[in-house]
Amino acid sequence: LSFTRSLAKVELHAHLNGSVRRSTLASLALAQGLSPDAIIASSQILPGDTRSTSAQFSVFHLAHKCIRGAEVVRRVTREILEDWSEDGVVYAEMRTTPRAHEEVGLSVEGYVQAVLDGFRDHQEGSASSSSSCHARLILSIDRRDGAEVAERTVNLALRHRSQGVIGIDLSGDPTLGQWSNWEPALRRARSEGLKVTIHAGEVPDADEETSQILSFHPDRLGHVCYLSPSNAKKLEETQPKIPLELCLTSNLLVCPQIVPEYSAHHFAKHYAQEHPVALCTDDTAVFGSSLSQEYAIAMQAFGFSREETKRIARDALQASFLDRNDPLWAELERVVGQEMTM
Ligand code: 5GP
Repeated sequence: LSFTRSLAKVELHAHLNGSVRRSTLASLALAQGLSPDAIIASSQILPGDTRSTSAQFSVFHLAHKCIRGAEVVRRVTREILEDWSEDGVVYAEMRTTPRAHEEVGLSVEGYVQAVLDGFRDHQEGSASSSSSCHARLILSIDRRDGAEVAERTVNLALRHRSQGVIGIDLSGDPTLGQWSNWEPALRRARSEGLKVTIHAGEVPDADEETSQILSFHPDRLGHVCYLSPSNAKKLEETQPKIPLELCLTSNLLVCPQIVPEYSAHHFAKHYAQEHPVALCTDDTAVFGSSLSQEYAIAMQAFGFSREETKRIARDALQASFLDRNDPLWAELERVVGQEMTM
Protein backbone atom coordinates (compact mmCIF):
# COMPACT_ATOMS: atom_id res chain seq x y z
CA LEU A 1 0.00 0.00 0.00
CA SER A 2 2.88 2.41 0.63
CA PHE A 3 3.87 2.22 -3.07
CA THR A 4 0.32 2.83 -4.35
CA ARG A 5 -0.18 5.64 -1.81
CA SER A 6 2.97 7.37 -2.94
CA LEU A 7 1.91 7.17 -6.58
CA ALA A 8 0.42 10.41 -7.94
CA LYS A 9 -3.05 9.31 -9.01
CA VAL A 10 -6.20 10.55 -10.72
CA GLU A 11 -9.74 9.90 -9.48
CA LEU A 12 -12.43 10.06 -12.17
CA HIS A 13 -15.47 8.40 -10.59
CA ALA A 14 -16.37 9.40 -7.03
CA HIS A 15 -19.69 10.63 -5.65
CA LEU A 16 -19.53 13.38 -3.03
CA ASN A 17 -22.14 12.00 -0.66
CA GLY A 18 -20.67 8.50 -0.88
CA SER A 19 -17.19 9.75 0.03
CA VAL A 20 -17.85 11.76 3.20
CA ARG A 21 -15.23 11.23 5.91
CA ARG A 22 -16.66 8.57 8.26
CA SER A 23 -15.86 10.45 11.48
CA THR A 24 -17.62 13.54 10.15
CA LEU A 25 -20.66 11.55 9.05
CA ALA A 26 -20.77 9.87 12.46
CA SER A 27 -20.66 13.18 14.32
CA LEU A 28 -23.28 14.75 12.04
CA ALA A 29 -25.50 11.68 12.51
CA LEU A 30 -25.02 11.67 16.29
CA ALA A 31 -26.08 15.31 16.31
CA GLN A 32 -29.31 14.10 14.68
CA GLY A 33 -29.81 11.66 17.57
CA LEU A 34 -28.80 8.47 15.69
CA SER A 35 -26.94 5.69 17.47
CA PRO A 36 -23.40 4.78 16.32
CA ASP A 37 -24.60 1.25 15.37
CA ALA A 38 -27.35 2.69 13.22
CA ILE A 39 -24.83 4.99 11.58
CA ILE A 40 -22.51 2.13 10.61
CA ALA A 41 -25.36 -0.13 9.51
CA SER A 42 -27.01 2.48 7.37
CA SER A 43 -23.99 4.03 5.71
CA GLN A 44 -22.04 1.05 4.34
CA ILE A 45 -22.33 -1.85 1.95
CA LEU A 46 -20.40 -4.77 3.42
CA PRO A 47 -19.37 -8.15 1.97
CA GLY A 48 -22.32 -10.56 1.87
CA ASP A 49 -24.92 -7.78 1.53
CA THR A 50 -27.78 -9.55 -0.25
CA ARG A 51 -30.22 -6.62 -0.41
CA SER A 52 -31.77 -5.64 -3.73
CA THR A 53 -30.07 -2.91 -5.73
CA SER A 54 -32.78 -0.40 -4.76
CA ALA A 55 -32.43 -1.31 -1.07
CA GLN A 56 -28.64 -0.91 -1.28
CA PHE A 57 -29.14 2.62 -2.60
CA SER A 58 -30.74 3.51 0.75
CA VAL A 59 -27.17 3.77 2.17
CA PHE A 60 -27.01 7.25 0.69
CA HIS A 61 -30.02 8.37 2.73
CA LEU A 62 -27.94 8.84 5.86
CA ALA A 63 -25.51 11.20 4.17
CA HIS A 64 -28.36 13.07 2.53
CA LYS A 65 -30.13 13.36 5.88
CA CYS A 66 -27.06 14.61 7.78
CA ILE A 67 -25.40 16.86 5.24
CA ARG A 68 -27.63 19.88 5.30
CA GLY A 69 -26.82 23.49 4.56
CA ALA A 70 -24.10 25.32 2.67
CA GLU A 71 -21.52 25.27 5.47
CA VAL A 72 -21.75 21.50 5.97
CA VAL A 73 -21.62 20.81 2.22
CA ARG A 74 -18.59 23.07 1.94
CA ARG A 75 -16.85 21.42 4.90
CA VAL A 76 -17.40 17.82 3.78
CA THR A 77 -16.22 18.68 0.26
CA ARG A 78 -12.99 20.20 1.61
CA GLU A 79 -12.43 17.19 3.87
CA ILE A 80 -12.92 14.72 1.02
CA LEU A 81 -10.27 16.54 -1.01
CA GLU A 82 -7.94 16.56 2.02
CA ASP A 83 -8.39 12.79 2.41
CA TRP A 84 -7.82 12.17 -1.29
CA SER A 85 -4.75 14.37 -1.24
CA GLU A 86 -3.38 12.38 1.74
CA ASP A 87 -3.97 9.27 -0.36
CA GLY A 88 -1.87 10.60 -3.25
CA VAL A 89 -4.71 11.78 -5.49
CA VAL A 90 -3.43 14.84 -7.33
CA TYR A 91 -6.42 15.40 -9.60
CA ALA A 92 -10.08 14.45 -9.12
CA GLU A 93 -13.31 14.83 -10.98
CA MET A 94 -15.82 14.75 -8.13
CA ARG A 95 -19.47 14.29 -8.98
CA THR A 96 -22.62 15.19 -7.11
CA THR A 97 -26.36 15.59 -7.64
CA PRO A 98 -27.42 19.20 -7.01
CA ARG A 99 -30.07 19.20 -4.29
CA ALA A 100 -31.91 22.04 -2.55
CA HIS A 101 -31.97 21.88 1.25
CA GLU A 102 -35.17 23.83 1.59
CA GLU A 103 -35.49 23.69 5.39
CA VAL A 104 -32.23 25.66 5.70
CA GLY A 105 -32.82 27.89 2.68
CA LEU A 106 -30.22 26.29 0.40
CA SER A 107 -31.11 26.31 -3.30
CA VAL A 108 -29.67 23.94 -5.94
CA GLU A 109 -27.60 26.87 -7.15
CA GLY A 110 -26.34 27.41 -3.57
CA TYR A 111 -25.53 23.70 -3.27
CA VAL A 112 -23.29 23.78 -6.34
CA GLN A 113 -21.65 26.96 -5.10
CA ALA A 114 -21.00 25.37 -1.67
CA VAL A 115 -19.21 22.42 -3.33
CA LEU A 116 -17.10 24.81 -5.42
CA ASP A 117 -16.34 26.83 -2.28
CA GLY A 118 -15.15 23.58 -0.67
CA PHE A 119 -12.81 23.07 -3.65
CA ARG A 120 -11.44 26.59 -3.17
CA ASP A 121 -11.00 26.11 0.59
CA HIS A 122 -8.93 22.98 -0.06
CA GLN A 123 -6.82 24.71 -2.67
CA GLU A 124 -6.17 27.71 -0.41
CA GLY A 125 -5.58 25.52 2.64
CA SER A 126 -3.04 23.39 0.84
CA ALA A 127 -1.26 26.28 -0.88
CA SER A 128 1.59 26.16 1.62
CA SER A 129 1.91 22.37 1.66
CA SER A 130 3.50 20.26 -1.05
CA SER A 131 0.38 18.28 -1.84
CA SER A 132 -3.07 19.26 -2.96
CA CYS A 133 -5.78 17.57 -4.93
CA HIS A 134 -6.86 19.69 -7.88
CA ALA A 135 -10.56 19.21 -8.45
CA ARG A 136 -13.15 19.66 -11.15
CA LEU A 137 -16.87 19.07 -10.77
CA ILE A 138 -19.31 16.85 -12.66
CA LEU A 139 -23.01 17.42 -11.96
CA SER A 140 -25.12 14.27 -11.75
CA ILE A 141 -28.63 13.72 -13.03
CA ASP A 142 -30.40 11.28 -10.71
CA ARG A 143 -32.34 8.60 -12.60
CA ARG A 144 -35.35 9.20 -10.37
CA ASP A 145 -35.66 12.66 -11.93
CA GLY A 146 -37.22 13.47 -15.30
CA ALA A 147 -36.44 15.61 -18.31
CA GLU A 148 -37.07 18.94 -16.60
CA VAL A 149 -34.60 18.38 -13.77
CA ALA A 150 -32.08 17.03 -16.28
CA GLU A 151 -32.33 20.26 -18.29
CA ARG A 152 -31.98 22.30 -15.10
CA THR A 153 -28.84 20.37 -14.15
CA VAL A 154 -27.30 21.11 -17.54
CA ASN A 155 -28.13 24.81 -17.11
CA LEU A 156 -26.50 24.78 -13.66
CA ALA A 157 -23.38 23.17 -15.10
CA LEU A 158 -23.18 25.75 -17.88
CA ARG A 159 -23.58 28.63 -15.42
CA HIS A 160 -20.74 27.33 -13.23
CA ARG A 161 -18.39 26.26 -15.99
CA SER A 162 -15.91 29.06 -15.36
CA GLN A 163 -15.59 27.85 -11.75
CA GLY A 164 -14.64 24.29 -12.68
CA VAL A 165 -17.77 22.37 -13.67
CA ILE A 166 -16.72 20.25 -16.62
CA GLY A 167 -19.34 17.63 -17.20
CA ILE A 168 -22.61 15.84 -16.59
CA ASP A 169 -23.18 12.36 -15.19
CA LEU A 170 -26.22 10.09 -15.15
CA SER A 171 -26.44 8.02 -11.96
CA GLY A 172 -28.81 6.89 -9.22
CA ASP A 173 -30.86 3.73 -8.76
CA PRO A 174 -30.35 1.85 -12.05
CA THR A 175 -33.80 0.23 -11.81
CA LEU A 176 -35.52 3.61 -12.20
CA GLY A 177 -36.39 5.83 -15.16
CA GLN A 178 -35.74 5.51 -18.83
CA TRP A 179 -33.02 6.72 -21.17
CA SER A 180 -35.38 8.80 -23.33
CA ASN A 181 -36.06 11.03 -20.26
CA TRP A 182 -32.50 12.31 -20.14
CA GLU A 183 -31.10 11.96 -23.63
CA PRO A 184 -32.24 15.39 -24.92
CA ALA A 185 -30.57 17.19 -21.96
CA LEU A 186 -27.41 15.11 -22.37
CA ARG A 187 -27.28 15.92 -26.10
CA ARG A 188 -27.61 19.61 -25.30
CA ALA A 189 -24.86 19.36 -22.65
CA ARG A 190 -22.56 17.86 -25.24
CA SER A 191 -23.44 20.41 -27.92
CA GLU A 192 -22.60 23.17 -25.40
CA GLY A 193 -19.16 21.65 -24.82
CA LEU A 194 -19.71 19.78 -21.55
CA LYS A 195 -18.38 16.23 -21.25
CA VAL A 196 -20.82 13.42 -20.51
CA THR A 197 -20.30 10.26 -18.46
CA ILE A 198 -22.99 7.63 -17.89
CA HIS A 199 -23.44 4.81 -15.38
CA ALA A 200 -24.31 1.78 -17.48
CA GLY A 201 -24.78 -1.98 -17.15
CA GLU A 202 -25.22 -2.04 -13.36
CA VAL A 203 -28.16 -4.45 -13.43
CA PRO A 204 -29.08 -7.44 -15.60
CA ASP A 205 -31.85 -6.95 -18.16
CA ALA A 206 -30.68 -3.48 -19.18
CA ASP A 207 -29.21 -4.52 -22.54
CA GLU A 208 -31.50 -2.33 -24.60
CA GLU A 209 -30.69 0.75 -22.52
CA THR A 210 -26.97 -0.03 -22.63
CA SER A 211 -27.20 -0.30 -26.41
CA GLN A 212 -28.92 3.12 -26.56
CA ILE A 213 -26.24 4.60 -24.31
CA LEU A 214 -23.50 3.17 -26.52
CA SER A 215 -25.20 4.68 -29.60
CA PHE A 216 -25.16 8.06 -27.82
CA HIS A 217 -21.38 7.63 -27.49
CA PRO A 218 -20.73 9.30 -24.10
CA ASP A 219 -17.23 10.55 -23.29
CA ARG A 220 -16.89 7.92 -20.55
CA LEU A 221 -18.88 5.04 -19.10
CA GLY A 222 -19.06 3.88 -15.49
CA HIS A 223 -19.16 0.25 -14.27
CA VAL A 224 -20.46 -1.72 -17.33
CA CYS A 225 -20.64 -4.88 -15.22
CA TYR A 226 -23.41 -6.43 -17.29
CA LEU A 227 -22.50 -6.36 -20.97
CA SER A 228 -24.23 -8.66 -23.47
CA PRO A 229 -22.06 -10.11 -26.26
CA SER A 230 -23.61 -7.71 -28.80
CA ASN A 231 -23.04 -4.69 -26.54
CA ALA A 232 -19.49 -5.85 -25.83
CA LYS A 233 -18.91 -5.90 -29.60
CA LYS A 234 -20.51 -2.47 -29.97
CA LEU A 235 -18.30 -1.09 -27.18
CA GLU A 236 -15.17 -2.46 -28.83
CA GLU A 237 -16.13 -1.19 -32.28
CA THR A 238 -17.13 2.35 -31.21
CA GLN A 239 -14.54 4.90 -32.31
CA PRO A 240 -13.02 6.75 -30.60
CA LYS A 241 -13.06 4.17 -27.84
CA ILE A 242 -15.10 5.14 -24.77
CA PRO A 243 -12.92 5.04 -21.62
CA LEU A 244 -14.36 3.00 -18.75
CA GLU A 245 -14.41 4.11 -15.11
CA LEU A 246 -14.01 0.84 -13.18
CA CYS A 247 -14.43 0.45 -9.42
CA LEU A 248 -13.21 -2.94 -8.17
CA THR A 249 -14.57 -3.02 -4.62
CA SER A 250 -17.84 -1.32 -5.45
CA ASN A 251 -18.53 -3.81 -8.25
CA LEU A 252 -17.50 -6.79 -6.07
CA LEU A 253 -19.93 -5.73 -3.33
CA VAL A 254 -22.84 -4.60 -5.52
CA CYS A 255 -22.56 -7.07 -8.42
CA PRO A 256 -21.14 -10.27 -6.83
CA GLN A 257 -22.83 -12.38 -9.52
CA ILE A 258 -20.59 -10.74 -12.13
CA VAL A 259 -17.59 -10.03 -9.91
CA PRO A 260 -17.43 -12.92 -7.40
CA GLU A 261 -13.76 -12.14 -6.66
CA TYR A 262 -11.36 -9.37 -7.59
CA SER A 263 -9.45 -11.48 -10.10
CA ALA A 264 -12.72 -12.00 -12.04
CA HIS A 265 -13.29 -8.25 -12.48
CA HIS A 266 -13.76 -7.09 -16.08
CA PHE A 267 -10.92 -4.55 -15.59
CA ALA A 268 -8.47 -7.34 -16.53
CA LYS A 269 -10.27 -8.19 -19.77
CA HIS A 270 -10.58 -4.57 -20.97
CA TYR A 271 -7.00 -3.81 -19.97
CA ALA A 272 -5.73 -6.85 -21.90
CA GLN A 273 -7.73 -5.67 -24.93
CA GLU A 274 -6.10 -2.23 -24.58
CA HIS A 275 -9.47 -0.61 -24.06
CA PRO A 276 -8.96 2.67 -22.14
CA VAL A 277 -9.75 2.11 -18.46
CA ALA A 278 -9.48 4.18 -15.29
CA LEU A 279 -9.36 2.64 -11.84
CA CYS A 280 -11.72 4.57 -9.52
CA THR A 281 -13.39 4.24 -6.10
CA ASP A 282 -17.08 5.22 -6.58
CA ASP A 283 -17.91 5.83 -2.89
CA THR A 284 -14.95 5.50 -0.54
CA ALA A 285 -17.08 5.76 2.61
CA VAL A 286 -19.78 3.34 1.52
CA PHE A 287 -17.33 0.67 0.33
CA GLY A 288 -14.59 1.33 2.89
CA SER A 289 -11.87 1.76 0.30
CA SER A 290 -9.48 4.36 -1.07
CA LEU A 291 -7.87 4.86 -4.47
CA SER A 292 -4.48 3.61 -3.24
CA GLN A 293 -6.23 0.51 -1.88
CA GLU A 294 -7.94 -0.10 -5.24
CA TYR A 295 -4.54 0.18 -6.96
CA ALA A 296 -3.03 -2.26 -4.45
CA ILE A 297 -5.92 -4.69 -5.03
CA ALA A 298 -5.37 -4.44 -8.81
CA MET A 299 -1.65 -5.18 -8.39
CA GLN A 300 -2.42 -8.26 -6.36
CA ALA A 301 -5.45 -9.53 -8.32
CA PHE A 302 -4.02 -8.99 -11.80
CA GLY A 303 -0.30 -9.32 -11.05
CA PHE A 304 0.58 -5.82 -12.23
CA SER A 305 4.19 -4.73 -11.83
CA ARG A 306 5.06 -1.31 -10.44
CA GLU A 307 5.71 -0.02 -13.96
CA GLU A 308 2.34 -1.29 -15.18
CA THR A 309 0.65 0.30 -12.17
CA LYS A 310 2.28 3.64 -12.96
CA ARG A 311 0.94 3.32 -16.49
CA ILE A 312 -2.56 2.69 -15.11
CA ALA A 313 -2.36 6.02 -13.29
CA ARG A 314 -1.24 7.78 -16.48
CA ASP A 315 -4.03 6.10 -18.47
CA ALA A 316 -6.57 7.54 -16.03
CA LEU A 317 -5.22 11.03 -16.69
CA GLN A 318 -5.64 10.48 -20.43
CA ALA A 319 -9.31 9.64 -19.81
CA SER A 320 -9.91 12.83 -17.81
CA PHE A 321 -12.22 15.61 -18.97
CA LEU A 322 -9.62 18.27 -18.27
CA ASP A 323 -9.02 20.67 -21.17
CA ARG A 324 -5.61 19.92 -22.68
CA ASN A 325 -5.02 23.69 -22.88
CA ASP A 326 -5.61 24.12 -19.15
CA PRO A 327 -2.23 25.00 -17.54
CA LEU A 328 -2.94 22.25 -15.00
CA TRP A 329 -2.73 19.64 -17.77
CA ALA A 330 1.00 20.08 -18.33
CA GLU A 331 1.65 19.95 -14.58
CA LEU A 332 -0.36 16.74 -14.21
CA GLU A 333 1.34 15.11 -17.19
CA ARG A 334 4.64 15.67 -15.36
CA VAL A 335 3.58 14.20 -12.01
CA VAL A 336 0.87 11.58 -12.54
CA GLY A 337 2.27 8.05 -12.32
CA GLN A 338 5.39 9.25 -10.46
CA GLU A 339 6.21 8.28 -6.88
CA MET A 340 5.92 11.28 -4.56
CA THR A 341 7.51 11.87 -1.19
CA MET A 342 4.52 11.96 1.17
P1 5GP B 1 -24.36 12.60 -4.37
O1 5GP B 1 -24.76 12.71 -5.82
O2 5GP B 1 -25.54 12.80 -3.47
O3 5GP B 1 -23.20 13.45 -4.00
O4 5GP B 1 -23.81 11.10 -4.15
C1 5GP B 1 -24.65 10.01 -3.83
C2 5GP B 1 -25.51 9.63 -5.02
O5 5GP B 1 -24.68 9.16 -6.11
C3 5GP B 1 -26.46 8.47 -4.76
O6 5GP B 1 -27.67 8.92 -4.17
C4 5GP B 1 -26.68 7.90 -6.15
O7 5GP B 1 -27.64 8.68 -6.83
C5 5GP B 1 -25.34 8.13 -6.82
N1 5GP B 1 -24.47 6.92 -6.77
C6 5GP B 1 -23.49 6.66 -5.89
N2 5GP B 1 -22.90 5.46 -6.16
C7 5GP B 1 -23.54 4.98 -7.24
C8 5GP B 1 -23.40 3.79 -8.01
O8 5GP B 1 -22.56 2.90 -7.75
N3 5GP B 1 -24.25 3.63 -9.06
C9 5GP B 1 -25.19 4.57 -9.39
N4 5GP B 1 -25.97 4.34 -10.46
N5 5GP B 1 -25.33 5.71 -8.70
C10 5GP B 1 -24.53 5.91 -7.62
